[in-house]
Amino acid sequence: MTTLIESEEHKALRDAVAALGKRHGRNHNREQLWSDAGKLGYLGVNLPEAYGGGGGGITELSIVLEELGAAGCPLLMLVVSPAICGTVIARFGTDAQKQEWLPVLADGTRTMAFGITEPDAGSNSHRITTTARRDGADWLLTGRKVFVSGVDIADATLVVGRTEDARTGNLKPCLFIVPRDAPGFQRSRIDMELNAAEKQFELVLDDVRLPPQALVGDEDAGLLQLFAGLNPERIMTAAFAIGMGRYALARAIEYARERTVWKAPIGAHQAIAHPLAQAHIDLELARLMMQKAAYLYDAGDDVGAGEAANMAKYAAAEANVKAVDQAVHTLGGNGLTREFGLASLVTAARVARIAPVSREMILNYVSHQTLGLPKSY
Ligand SMILES: Cc1cc2nc3c(=O)[nH]c(=O)nc-3n(C[C@H](O)[C@H](O)[C@H](O)COP(=O)(O)OP(=O)(O)OC[C@H]3O[C@@H](n4cnc5c(N)ncnc54)[C@H](O)[C@@H]3O)c2cc1C
Repeated sequence: MTTLIESEEHKALRDAVAALGKRHGRNHNREQLWSDAGKLGYLGVNLPEAYGGGGGGITELSIVLEELGAAGCPLLMLVVSPAICGTVIARFGTDAQKQEWLPVLADGTRTMAFGITEPDAGSNSHRITTTARRDGADWLLTGRKVFVSGVDIADATLVVGRTEDARTGNLKPCLFIVPRDAPGFQRSRIDMELNAAEKQFELVLDDVRLPPQALVGDEDAGLLQLFAGLNPERIMTAAFAIGMGRYALARAIEYARERTVWKAPIGAHQAIAHPLAQAHIDLELARLMMQKAAYLYDAGDDVGAGEAANMAKYAAAEANVKAVDQAVHTLGGNGLTREFGLASLVTAARVARIAPVSREMILNYVSHQTLGLPKSY
């Protein structure tokens, strides 16, 4: 039975992470925060205890990300390293892969990026062409990826490719761990209009030679592995968006309580107060759906979690875009100054609307899967 009221343990985790976030704040040093969060066990709360993790789930990891975001210091790589890569390896990796990666992903001493998006595939991941072919016992991986976050700071990237099924000749997805400095693995930074420590990269894989143990788990489990990583990614993107929305809203509320240009502070005008109240309600509602998605995922209901994770990501992204927009507006001219630090969130807030799956693709999913409407594509 799920509970809508957070447990004492979860509240304590929330408070402890919020305190860490407050110490680091908006002008944080990413590496220092990552290291401190790792030492406190927050980066691997979702990973199995047997491999140095906290033994919790995405519920706990989403609390960590939301609270850091609410303090102005979100760690984007939490979406990727422990949530996608850690989950996939914990659920499908070989014993050797678990031993090599899970303890270091959990304490944050190593990080893993995740690359699925391709220039010619985009939202249509069925169209990806990065291909792995066998060369003796090794694999040779060739293709291109785009917008992959944090490749420079990650020790390896979990790359989604395809191999040819020996029986049917069809291409099927498979996941490879590609070390950052593997020969033939080139990255070039994309000039994004985003004020974030984590950068995005275009990747070229030119016959990257990988040993058999670079293939995660088993060649036939690729699709399952991919789906195992995608729900945590959506739930964590929701946490990222809710955290950012809370941060922006808190700055606007502080400002609206103080700033006085007539008789009362501007927050007394309903034209300022009501949109802030609406933004708060929308963020709270999005969090409720995120908690449902995390609960279902942690309970092992991948199908139920799929619908909820999509809806949570959608709701959180929309709530965040509105919260940031209203926060900037509340500050008047100061909303656009560097000093108040909200203007850069206007662009940052759009990320969760586009990635990892766009607003329209979620509406498509709900139209087809939930409502049973026909497809146009
Ligand atoms: C900051 C940032 C970080 C990222 N990090 C990563 C990462 O770490 N790893 C990774 O693999 N990827 C990453 N991405 C990529 C991200 O997942 C993609 O940008 C996203 O999936 C959309 O793909 P696209 O950009 O090719 O857009 P497109 O697929 O070209 O879509 C363009 C527009 O068309 C719409 N559209 C497309 N198809 C349909 C349809 N059938 N019906 C209605 N509308 C449609 C979309 O909703 C969108 O608005 C990141 C992106 C950003 C912006």
